[in-house]
Amino acid sequence: MQIKRLRLAGFKSFVDPADLAIEPGLTGVVGPNGCGKSNLLEALRWTMGENSAKSLRGAGMEDVIFAGTATRPPRDFAEVSILTEVDGDETEVVRRIERGAGSAYRIDGRDVRAKDVALLFADSATGAHSPALVSQNRIGAIIAAKPTDRRAMLEEAAGIAGLHVRRRDAEAK
Ligand code: ATP
Ligand code: MG
Repeated sequence: MQIKRLRLAGFKSFVDPADLAIEPGLTGVVGPNGCGKSNLLEALRWTMGENSAKSLRGAGMEDVIFAGTATRPPRDFAEVSILTEVDGDETEVVRRIERGAGSAYRIDGRDVRAKDVALLFADSATGAHSPALVSQNRIGAIIAAKPTDRRAMLEEAAGIAGLHVRRRDAEAK
């Protein structure tokens, strides 16, 4: 799976709509402190289903919505779109959150469950916890990881994490 485009509106510091073409070979994002590099990575993870406030560096789910600055009022929603391509087929995944109304997902314009988005990315060996998304301090954490955690990372990289999601799902029924 290739991620071809990331589009953000109202997400953290990206108050105005921003469109990023992700060309093959992109391996890092550089820029001055506070310019939004980590926010970009968090936008990818959040759209893939990340819900942990801690890993999104907030106190609650709505903290991903632009909170306002001295000169600009806060927004009441955040929306992020990821355009993916697998074997020439493009798929757009969108997650949107509104103040007081929670968050929702769409795949190619259809309303879907969080689980559908998790499966889409798990089957393509990526996702919110993918080791392909390396944020600050993560290199050290991978080296220091417990063997079981490192195994989970390798399984995700090998593309079999989706099987586990389905097994848990089947066992719960
Ligand atoms: P560094 O090089 O220090 O790691 P960075 O480029 O990773 O910086 P980010 O952490 O992505 O920067 O962005 C931080 C900026 O995002 C801060 O200015 C912070 O105020 C802003 N920010 C975070 N959440 C929100 C929000 N909900 N609303 C408005 N601004 C936000
Ligand atoms: Mg950062």
